[in-house]
Amino acid sequence: MSKFSKLIQKQKEVKDSKKHRFNLEAKTNANREGVLCACGSKHSYKTCCEPIHKNIYLAETPLSLMRSRYTAYVLGNIEYLMLSHHSSTRPIVEKKEIETWAKSVQWLKLEIVQTSETTSEVGFVTFKAYFLENGKEHVIHEESRFVKENNHWSYIDGNHS
Ligand SMILES: [Zn+2]
Repeated sequence: MSKFSKLIQKQKEVKDSKKHRFNLEAKTNANREGVLCACGSKHSYKTCCEPIHKNIYLAETPLSLMRSRYTAYVLGNIEYLMLSHHSSTRPIVEKKEIETWAKSVQWLKLEIVQTSETTSEVGFVTFKAYFLENGKEHVIHEESRFVKENNHWSYIDGNHS
């Protein structure tokens, strides 16, 4: 990439991040009013991820658990993030750090790339989660593994690409 096209790209990124910030504010407000869920389902938070945040057993598939975890990141709901994380890999030590980080970044959107449920006990979801940190757009691209614990789905680990 030439110096010039890099510069153009940079300007575009700044412009896009401003646009994203506006969208995010709109989304966050919508979420508070119970209009649209942050997970991008086009359902209201009240009928989408909120019931799952209140009762994890309502997440019937790895995908719905994944979506509810994204929304929990957006809302900074650290208790749910801990609960929905398998106890064998739950990042208890980093709990405060994760909460601070989740609240400090601006979550933009969740994109589901692929889902596969191999058995009733294990399933995989590949996703992209976009966020802004210090004005720069980042993406978490991960294939997450979900397993059942205490008879509900939980996030155990993932492969980053
Ligand atoms: Zn949702």
